[in-house]
Amino acid sequence: MLALVGTIVDAEKVLPDHAVLVEGNKIAKVVPAERVGEFGPERVYGGNGFFVMPGLINAHTHVAMARFRGIGESMPTQEWLEKIIWPREREWTREEIRNWTLLGMTEAIANGSTTINDHYFFAEEIARTAETIGIRAFVGHTIIDLVDFPHAAPEEGFRFFKRWRGRSDLVVPTLAPHATNTVSLELMSEISKVSEEEDGRVHIHLAQSRGEVRELRRRYNLKPVEFLHRAGVLNERLIGVHGVYLLENEMKALSSSGSTLVHCPSSNVELEAKTVNLPRLVELGLNVALGTDSPNPVGSIDMFAEMRCMALFSNLMSGKPRSISAREVLRLATVNGARALGIAVGLIRPGYLADLLLINGRKPWFTPPENPYSHIVYSARGSDVEAVLVNGEVVYERGYFVRLGKRIEELLP
Ligand SMILES: [Zn+2]
Repeated sequence: MLALVGTIVDAEKVLPDHAVLVEGNKIAKVVPAERVGEFGPERVYGGNGFFVMPGLINAHTHVAMARFRGIGESMPTQEWLEKIIWPREREWTREEIRNWTLLGMTEAIANGSTTINDHYFFAEEIARTAETIGIRAFVGHTIIDLVDFPHAAPEEGFRFFKRWRGRSDLVVPTLAPHATNTVSLELMSEISKVSEEEDGRVHIHLAQSRGEVRELRRRYNLKPVEFLHRAGVLNERLIGVHGVYLLENEMKALSSSGSTLVHCPSSNVELEAKTVNLPRLVELGLNVALGTDSPNPVGSIDMFAEMRCMALFSNLMSGKPRSISAREVLRLATVNGARALGIAVGLIRPGYLADLLLINGRKPWFTPPENPYSHIVYSARGSDVEAVLVNGEVVYERGYFVRLGKRIEELLP
């Protein structure tokens, strides 16, 4: 048994001076800190001045794209894709993917993501790397049939999905059509069939750019959500990403179908100078989760930075200060991501999987300690993460990756 001691913070409660007891891969109990000794834990982490919180669910990533960070800054989206990203992506080798995935995952874990929902080529390598480092990973092999893209063959996407079903404690395969304008209606219908038969999640870029919406109208005379509905994937297994160009009736349809929309605020503002009206989505009852997207052309795989962006951009888009509470922001980054993926994480509750963060709150920017929600959303940074547990196991502690037996600096290329 392990114990994590500090102020317990999740989207439902704040409990100062408490301890979370972890047995096997689950949370066994939450008790006042003074009672920890009664349970005889093998190791006690944290103490006075620490926060214990659920691991953050990074609901949309392409971790290997850390490779392209800083390249092609200040280019419009289409030009950036055509000149910078696509030519480089066509050149990927298996070994490079493995190395950059590992690096991207170290960045995700060290900054508090215990689960990622990744969408990329060479999914086999991504899945194996997740097991090596010990992160919980939903992994989809990117599928495209309307653009010639050698690494995105639909057959490999289906093969990968079937190969990894029920095979791992940490890795869950998903179906990952690239976007509504790069996959045909026929292929989407095939994806819908497999998703239904195998209860698989469908993870897709949705209404990300004006070009996507325009192309779809030209090809099928459909809006993005109508396209998904026509293909039969508009249901609680759908995880759409971005939604920057969704119309009100599309948002309503997404909401009533029980689907999830992953909001990636910094990516949207970087590439499109636009993002969603978050309070409106929340008002419609849509399950909105949070993702960092790829850390390029600029940025980092840091969910703390992303939470802050989400809260601030929400004010900007809705024209109202304090348009979303810090507690609600934490809910989106934990509970809603867990709901999207169908896993019992995101809250500190007995019986839930022990995916947890220990945050060192003994810093000026956590002082005074009155408002933990505000501190976690507006003041915390990824580097405040002291330890990370995934599935009950400490996988990261102060710069050291336990399963790899290496410090973060030793992993740099
Ligand atoms: Zn993306």
